[in-house]
Amino acid sequence: MGIFDFIKGNTKIAAVIGDPIEHSISPQLHNTLSWQLGINMAYIPLRVDKAYLGKALETFKALGFIGINVTVPHKQHVIEYLDEVTEDAKLAGAVNTIEFRDGKLTGYNTDISGFVRMFKSEAGTGFRERDVVILGAGGAARGVCIGIIRDGAKRISIANRTLSRAEQLAEELNNLKKGSASACLLNSREMKKAIQHADIIINTTSVGMYPHTECNPLDEDIVFRENQIVCDLIYNPFETCLLKSARLSGCLTINGLGMLIYQGVHSFEIWNKVEVPETVVKNVLASFKNYFKIKEIQ
Ligand code: NAP
Repeated sequence: MGIFDFIKGNTKIAAVIGDPIEHSISPQLHNTLSWQLGINMAYIPLRVDKAYLGKALETFKALGFIGINVTVPHKQHVIEYLDEVTEDAKLAGAVNTIEFRDGKLTGYNTDISGFVRMFKSEAGTGFRERDVVILGAGGAARGVCIGIIRDGAKRISIANRTLSRAEQLAEELNNLKKGSASACLLNSREMKKAIQHADIIINTTSVGMYPHTECNPLDEDIVFRENQIVCDLIYNPFETCLLKSARLSGCLTINGLGMLIYQGVHSFEIWNKVEVPETVVKNVLASFKNYFKIKEIQ
């Protein structure tokens, strides 16, 4: 009989907290990274009720955890328990990664860095001087927009079902970079015009996500140009209705799995003070793509 010696007395412990947490693939991702890179870290999922958030963080600190990922619904509330928060996380108003070091809790937002790194890797280009349409104005849209502005986008048009949320986000972005953002209603004439001129279209709404896989955030009469890049933050299903119609129009399409992998990789790098080689990230992403395709067929 073999000995399972992955977890030992000196193994560093990290975790993801959320409520619910069963759906998270972060444990598979981080334990795969540790295994591939020969790093002595184990990563577990923990369901934490909002009422115990502060106590849970104190406990992780007392137990010597090196870090945690934070997912829905704690990304905003967790900020009040932290000693420091990075500029990106402050702007996004959300923390998805906490580092425990020298008794101090520091909050990061690796969704922002993860999204931009993923996009550059999968699209082979960044956002400099690009015209971008964002569908949605929720938490994910805010992070994506901050990353895009930082990377030098020329213009961002935010189209949302609730106009006031799009206007609020556009105002915040214009405070970061004057004249960079505008707001309109989802599927309005203004949005359709913006899509015609856009280089990149990114869906950050939850429309089309499992189990409502037949839904598309865009009206049927919207046609893409073949030189546009269309990205959907959803990865279940692997190809949403939106991505399918964009692919059939000849566009380069990108789903949300890469963002999930790259944000996790950045958390892993923060905790372990390592740089994960791009070849390793690409191999891990390819394995997860297969894993999801197989799960979808079943
Ligand atoms: P959120 O803050 O709740 O925002 C949801 C957005 O979707 C809002 O803009 C909302 O519009 C819009 N929306 C919801 N139902 C709609 C409908 N029936 N018609 C039109 N618009 C609708 O959620 P979030 O955290 O931003 O997450 C949004 C999506 O991104 C989810 O699918 C999530 O899984 C995905 N995500 C993926 C990653 C990744 O790593 N790949 C990371 C984060 C998020 P209103 O403002 O009008 O309500």
